[in-house]
Amino acid sequence: MLTRRETILGGALTILWCGHATCAHAQTIGGREVKGCMLAEPSADILLNRSAPPWLSMSGAEEMFPKSGDPQFDFALAHSLSAMSETFQILPGFCYFDDSDGMNAYATNRVRLNRGDGTVLFGKGLLRRLMSQKENPDVSVAAVCAHEFGHIMQYKRGLDKVVRGDSPTVKRVELQADYFAGYFAGVRKISRPQYPAAVYALTQHNFGDNMVNSPQHHGTPQERADAIIQGFEAGFRQRKPLDEAINISVNYVRRL
Ligand SMILES: [Zn+2]
Repeated sequence: MLTRRETILGGALTILWCGHATCAHAQTIGGREVKGCMLAEPSADILLNRSAPPWLSMSGAEEMFPKSGDPQFDFALAHSLSAMSETFQILPGFCYFDDSDGMNAYATNRVRLNRGDGTVLFGKGLLRRLMSQKENPDVSVAAVCAHEFGHIMQYKRGLDKVVRGDSPTVKRVELQADYFAGYFAGVRKISRPQYPAAVYALTQHNFGDNMVNSPQHHGTPQERADAIIQGFEAGFRQRKPLDEAINISVNYVRRL
C-alpha cells in the first residue's frame, strides 16, 4: 500500500535507507562550528582546498563537473546539475571533497571555475554512501544536490536572511532549501513523467533530525519530507513559475 507521501509524488517506493544525516549533525571545520550547510568563507576555503579534479567536460571544450569514476553516473549527474542551474537561474561550481571526518554536502558563495554563483561541495564519502543504494542511487545524489543548489539560490537572492529572521535555528533556511529541491523534482517530472520524485522526499526524510532545540536543527524527518512535497506540488501540479514558488516558500517556512 502506498503512503500518502508516495501517492502524492507518484510512485511506489521500496528504498529503505537509514543514512547518516547530511548537513544535520554538528560539524566543526577548522575549529569553527558549522550550522546548516551554508558555509562561510574560512570553512569553505578549507574544504575547497580538499577538493580535486579531474573534472567532467560536457562538450570537451570546458571543464564543468568533477568525475566520480562512474562515466554513466557522471553523465546523468551533469545533466541533472545543468537542469538545476536552469530551473533555479543560478550558475554555481560543483566539486567533490574529502569528507572522511563526517559525510556531508555544503553550499558556499565562494566562487570556483569562474561560476559566479558560488560552489556546491559534495563529500566523496556521502557520494559513496548514496551510490551504494540498490534503487535510484543517482536520484538520491540529485536530491542532495538540488537542496544545495537551493542554498545557492538563497545566497543569490538574499533569501536565507529573509526566512531565518531571528530564529535560533537554521531550520527555516534548511526547509526552504528542501522546498526548492522538491520544486526541482516537480519541474523535472513534467518533462520526464517516469522521474522518481518520491526519492527526494525519502532522502531528505532520512536526513531529518529531532534535535529541535539545537541551533543545528534542520527540521524533523516529517517536516523535511513535507517541505519537499510542498515544493513538488508547486512545481509539478500547480506549475508555478520560479518567482511565485519562491514567494510561496517564504510564507511556508515562516509559518513553521
Ligand atoms: Zn542545507
